Amino acid sequence: MQTSKEKYFTKQLLNWNKKFNDRKMPWKGIKDPYKIWLSEVILQQTKVEQGIHYYIKFTEKYTNIISLANAKDKEVYKLWEGLGYYNRCKNLLFTARKLRDENAGKFPTNYHEILQLKGIGVYTAAAIASFAFNLPYAVIDGNVYRILARYFGIHTPIDSNEGKKEFTHLANKLLDKRKPAVYNQAIMDFGATVCKPNLPLCNNCKLKKNCIAFISNEANLLPIKNKRIVKKHRWLNYFILINNHDVWIKERTEKDIWQNLHEFYLVESEKKIKWNELNINKQLQQLNIKNYTIKNISKEFKQQLTHQSLHVQFIQILISTKPTTLKRDYWISQNKLSTVAFPKIINEFIKNKDNYLTSS
Ligand code: SF4
Repeated sequence: MQTSKEKYFTKQLLNWNKKFNDRKMPWKGIKDPYKIWLSEVILQQTKVEQGIHYYIKFTEKYTNIISLANAKDKEVYKLWEGLGYYNRCKNLLFTARKLRDENAGKFPTNYHEILQLKGIGVYTAAAIASFAFNLPYAVIDGNVYRILARYFGIHTPIDSNEGKKEFTHLANKLLDKRKPAVYNQAIMDFGATVCKPNLPLCNNCKLKKNCIAFISNEANLLPIKNKRIVKKHRWLNYFILINNHDVWIKERTEKDIWQNLHEFYLVESEKKIKWNELNINKQLQQLNIKNYTIKNISKEFKQQLTHQSLHVQFIQILISTKPTTLKRDYWISQNKLSTVAFPKIINEFIKNKDNYLTSS
């Protein structure tokens, strides 16, 4: 049973949605579970503005689960390039192939079966179940935690077990069971456009009358989180080995960031290395490279991931012969580099004309 305050919240939210919500996104209102799944996976760690472009590219090239399942890994990774968190792409392919092989390329229509699929957590399962099949499951993501913590003045940390239970229970109570798709879309849009993480639009908010955070001026203090993420620092030193028009690259196969993407010869260190002729020479000796020219030592580039802070540097080396210490079939012509999927930070380096990888 909903309390009167809970009833008021649901009613006001749906009212706001009907009268004022003009947020447009290409996947909004669609019923195709494949496209909903794709949009949710893309948006898991990506902003909507960036995600739209990828969603369009994917749905144009792979119009359904079977066409995605039949695609070559290499092509799909290339299309995903720049989105990061490549595990999402790996799981997308795995699940598409499983659905092709075991379910005639169709999504299950039951929440619990959707949840069993690789790469689909409770949030995505609720989104697919409610948007595609109108099933009564509330989506619970950062937006929902934030809105509920503020509106109901909840101080339980959202990353505690107790908090997760409390917010999940409340979110499902608030869900309009007759219109789960409309309600779920409304709360997500409300979080993205009104009750935003920073600087929520409280003064114009249609829910402010009963909002505890607004009344007690606590909007910027809620929701509460226990843990602060401690980031690990990594120094990735890439040796770009160039022989005539060929460059040496390899695929990252380890269970680590950027799995299945490509990179140059990597020397990873636990702290920053000040590269100079001496330590470069030492490194190249290990590869049995004797005749070489140091073409360039780049500045340090930085990339922030959720749990890691990456420091990346590129050292371009021209070599006269290909060393036997490096696998021969990993050499690629420079004009084919654009056909290979690289992590964003490497791709940006390659694409920058000033860093043009040439042996002349
Ligand atoms: Fe969020 Fe402010 Fe509206 Fe409360 S009044 S729901 S904090 S935007």
